[in-house]
Amino acid sequence: MTDTPLNLDVSLGVTIPARDARGRAVRLGPAIDAILANHDYPPVIETLLAEALALTALLGSLLKDAEGQMTLQAQTQNGIVDLLVCDYLNGELRGYVRHDAARLAEAGPNPSLFALFGKGYLAITFDQPATKERYQGIVPLEGDSLGQAAQSYFTQSEQIPSIVRLAAARGAAGWTAGGVIFQHLPEGEEGRERIHTKLDHPEWGHVAVLAGSVKDEELLDRSLPLDALVWRLFHEEAEVRILPAVQLSRGCRCDPDYVRSVIARFPVEERAQMVGEDGFIRVDCAFCATDFPIALDEIEH
Ligand SMILES: [Zn+2]
Repeated sequence: MTDTPLNLDVSLGVTIPARDARGRAVRLGPAIDAILANHDYPPVIETLLAEALALTALLGSLLKDAEGQMTLQAQTQNGIVDLLVCDYLNGELRGYVRHDAARLAEAGPNPSLFALFGKGYLAITFDQPATKERYQGIVPLEGDSLGQAAQSYFTQSEQIPSIVRLAAARGAAGWTAGGVIFQHLPEGEEGRERIHTKLDHPEWGHVAVLAGSVKDEELLDRSLPLDALVWRLFHEEAEVRILPAVQLSRGCRCDPDYVRSVIARFPVEERAQMVGEDGFIRVDCAFCATDFPIALDEIEH
């Protein structure tokens, strides 16, 4: 079966009205390859970032505001990974990881989430310019996986019972990362007070069991379109509504013109001090590991 628009680099929204549940499924392929190609990470870090990007795609595509931005940041005090940042804007994803390569090599081929992060925190920020809403929640980075950490974010920080599953692996065709999130939102839509948001709500328990039964192989199966995946999980439900899909891609917003405008704000003497031996001011974008050489005469007129 050839790839269809619902197989790769896509996010699909779902509601199950009778269960007061909503969800999303994502699968990423070429977008992950494009992001990882700019870095030179060891396999453990590539897998971590691929899963984090699947989570970012899940959460970002929950935004109703088309110009909304979602940022996911994991930060630690003294972990092998001390910083992981991913963000989402308008279907575009980017991300990077800062880590200690020597300590990672000592940790073996399959370090646990705790071995990677130690004592860390997961911060999730939603910016919605249309409604001028900015919302940030922070939870300890706990559990065996990034998916579990995200689940406790929603349970602790937002009091929304949620289930999150993530998987990422590199195969012959490149990287694949997949994930699902399902959430209990009684009374359904926004603007209405949420009631009965309890983990033991029978309607939610049913959805959680079904959503939680998704297998890594299904999340990563490039021949299984996301609507078929959702249907496989919830085929006994009376009604499953499939929402419009969102196409996903790698996208960085670093911009040489913007970099020039920032440098231009510095006094002339300070600008001169920034110039390296090769005659350029070098500015890096951490997200896409791109180096911008800027010449002084590009900004002094
Ligand atoms: Zn960039």
